[in-house]
Formats: sequence, C-alpha cells, structure tokens
Amino acid sequence: MEYYSNEISKLIEEFCALPGIGAKSAQRLAFHVINMPEDQVEALSSAIINAKKNVKYCKCCYTLTDQELCPICRDEGRDHKTIMVVENTRDLVAYEKTQKYNGVYHVLHGAISPMLGIGPNDIKLKELMRRLEADVNEVIIATNSSLEGETTAMYISKLIKPTGIKVTRIASGVPVGGDLEYIDEVTLLRALEGRIEI
Ligand code: ZN
Repeated sequence: MEYYSNEISKLIEEFCALPGIGAKSAQRLAFHVINMPEDQVEALSSAIINAKKNVKYCKCCYTLTDQELCPICRDEGRDHKTIMVVENTRDLVAYEKTQKYNGVYHVLHGAISPMLGIGPNDIKLKELMRRLEADVNEVIIATNSSLEGETTAMYISKLIKPTGIKVTRIASGVPVGGDLEYIDEVTLLRALEGRIEI
C-alpha cells in the first residue's frame, strides 16, 4: 500500500540512496524539506547542483576543488618534494586539520581491492607515477590500515622502489580497518611522525 503521494515517495527514495541514510532518516529528511521555506529549499538544491557542476579534480593532486589547482598545490610555502598519498579528499582534510604537515598530497580516489574488482588502473596511480618524474624526495603512503589500504600501500611501494625515491608508510597505531577521517589528530600525528621506510 502507498502511504505517501508519489512526489514524497520519490524524495524519500532519493534520500534513502545516500550513504548512511536509512529508511527512517530518509523519511525525516523528506518531511523536513517539505516543511522548509521555499527559498531555503532552492538554496539547498542549487548548492547541490553547483557543487556537482563546478567541483573537479585538482590537475596536480586530484583532490576535489573548484579551480584548476587546489589551494595546497598553489601554495609555494609548502614542500612540494614531499607527497603524501591518501585514499580520498576526506583523509587529506583530516591531515590538514593537524596543521603539522607541510608537504603536498596525492589523492587516489579509492584503494586496490581484488574482491571488489578495483585494480591499479581504477585509482589515480598512473597520475602519481607521472608526478614522480619531477624532483621528489619522499612519498608518504597514508592509505587506511584496512586490507585494501595495505594492499595499495604494498603495490605503490613496489612501483616506486625502482625510481630510488624514498617511500615511507605511516605508523600503525591507526586502528586496523579504521577510516582515517575518524581518527583524532593526535593519533594521526603520531602515525605520521612514526612513519617508517618501506
Ligand atoms: Zn592539488
């Protein structure tokens, strides 16, 4: 039996498709939106559309940005010879919040997972190797400590080794399977400072 009109069901369905939103939250959000003033709903929907339209990958580090180069890659005060490899932009933000890392980043947008059929060509790995043709002192691999993150770290280190560039891995202490973005800044810093050459 249909409880709601089609339009409401459709809205609930759309919310339900978002990560972390269950059926109940989707209903709550849908009714919240319907009760919002129309100009607020318009502001919300145009923010979504504009973000989707204008946000792209930084052409150097592949983080999400609305410009050709992200603010970190544009910053001449940063050490462009140290590149930290992370799985996604959220992880980059987690490290930026520590305010102690002065190098630059490379965002892979995923991790290698044979189980999910995600191979080296499905993440921004070729792009990383291309960056290493420039003068680089160190690549810090800060992928998650999940199976996929570790697999990716090993793969990248093997790939980089022949170039002679120093490759390090952030120290464990980051809980296994833990997403980087949920880990507090102190733990992140300890992991960074305790990194070891691999
Ligand atoms: Zn960038």
